[in-house]
Amino acid sequence: MPNSNGKMPLRLYNTRTRSVEPLRPLEPGHVRIYVCGLTPSAEGHLGHARSFLFFDVLRRYLTHPRNGYRVTFVKNVTDIDDRSIATAQAEGTTYDAVIARHYASFQASMRTLGVLDPDHEPYATKFVPQIMEMIGELMERGFAYASDDGVYYRVAAFARYGALSGKNVDELLIGARIAENEHKDDPLDFALWKFAKPGEPRWDSPWGAGRPGWHIECSAMARALLGVPFDVHGGGYDLIFPHHENEIAQSEPLMTAPPMAEMWVHGGLLNFDGRKMSKSLGNFEPLSALLERHDPLAIRLLFLQTGYRKPMNFTEDSIAGATRSLARLTEQYQRAKAVEDDGVPLSEESEAVIASRERFFEMLDDDMNTAGAVGVVFDLVGEIGHYRDASVRAAALDFVRDAFGIFGIVEALDRPSRMERHTISTPRTDVETAIRVEDRYWSREQQQQMIDALRRAVGDAVHVNGDRLAIVIGEIIQARADARKAKDFALGDRLRDALAAEGVALHDSKDGTTWTAAAR
Ligand SMILES: [Zn+2]
Repeated sequence: MPNSNGKMPLRLYNTRTRSVEPLRPLEPGHVRIYVCGLTPSAEGHLGHARSFLFFDVLRRYLTHPRNGYRVTFVKNVTDIDDRSIATAQAEGTTYDAVIARHYASFQASMRTLGVLDPDHEPYATKFVPQIMEMIGELMERGFAYASDDGVYYRVAAFARYGALSGKNVDELLIGARIAENEHKDDPLDFALWKFAKPGEPRWDSPWGAGRPGWHIECSAMARALLGVPFDVHGGGYDLIFPHHENEIAQSEPLMTAPPMAEMWVHGGLLNFDGRKMSKSLGNFEPLSALLERHDPLAIRLLFLQTGYRKPMNFTEDSIAGATRSLARLTEQYQRAKAVEDDGVPLSEESEAVIASRERFFEMLDDDMNTAGAVGVVFDLVGEIGHYRDASVRAAALDFVRDAFGIFGIVEALDRPSRMERHTISTPRTDVETAIRVEDRYWSREQQQQMIDALRRAVGDAVHVNGDRLAIVIGEIIQARADARKAKDFALGDRLRDALAAEGVALHDSKDGTTWTAAAR
């Protein structure tokens, strides 16, 4: 059934029902979303960011005039856990100092990636009263019990346990054991409240001083900030079991009208060169470091091109490809914008733009098929420069800008494309500036390939010392300037041609020589 604006509603894959379903907000016009946030007890990496990037695009699309929803978006911070306590003890600091350090870094990275701040960003330790209240209700109704080391959830009391993940309690019990230091009735029971050991942070409770378990935090914060039921509960695929299963088990027995959330939406996991990123595998790179090597907008594009549910493999080649695609798109957009008007209106051009726009939104409505939607924009951008009617070109450019806004990469349209000029007239300082620009657009591997090609092309004529592309180009330009000063124009031309063969064009003026590098 179409919405009031006449369009089919957005459909999303709902893990709870295992089908693609229309999103129909419980409160008309208002979509309430809870996404499990980070546990910043250690440095975050790009894998942690993937689902946050997806929900950022979903949120932008929901609030876009096409849908026109008001969105309340909650993303929590699990600011206490075993690891932050252990790290604090090892470092002689406090758990909240550990959390503050890692979270500040991750938050800065999220902003670099253009992820909008949530409407609410609850810290678990600020919701201890609400958490205790919920534990009390669960105990009253026979879903929880106190033991020697804490309060546990009684999984056997909740008949629907396993429904979200499709796991069966009997199968889960096979091989499940109670650890020696845990005092619980059943191996599947999980902690709602952990009594504090000496030296651990603690909050007083009716059952004993301690701290909340991870799962109950999300249930209590979602209930406090959004109310239950709400529309969309999200997170990474790895959170389905046990975390989201446990959230349901804690929340739904206390509700008159379950489910806790209408839709459970999960993002696929991210591998790095075919492996999970982890310190133990030796391939760990903090997100902040990765963002110094790669263009954050190209990272967004790469994720969009994959689609949110698919497992994804991040490689240096894949990000280099996305970086090139984005640069080409920026160039095509800027070139199309600069086209002179020849005043010939052509109706089929106008129809093509309208059709592209409609196809783009249909893709997004179909379970956020961002890969398809990106393809539509790419195809259109390549055409705009050929349109002869200025008003159609303007409409098409507006649409591209609109689409890029939903993708969260609109800045890419306004930044200097790779046709940017680099001034080499005063070699050292300006070359340094140029290097920083280069790093944005070429991967190290691409830079190295081009350096190797330039070395071969200039042969013995220039002694290439530099190990960075912009330095090497600067050295060759300097050698050409020296040759011209010495009236060796043949050598000067040879060096210019060597650069040109690699796509580097020189522009001489009274201020010196500048260069532009064409897209590769
Ligand atoms: Zn959670």
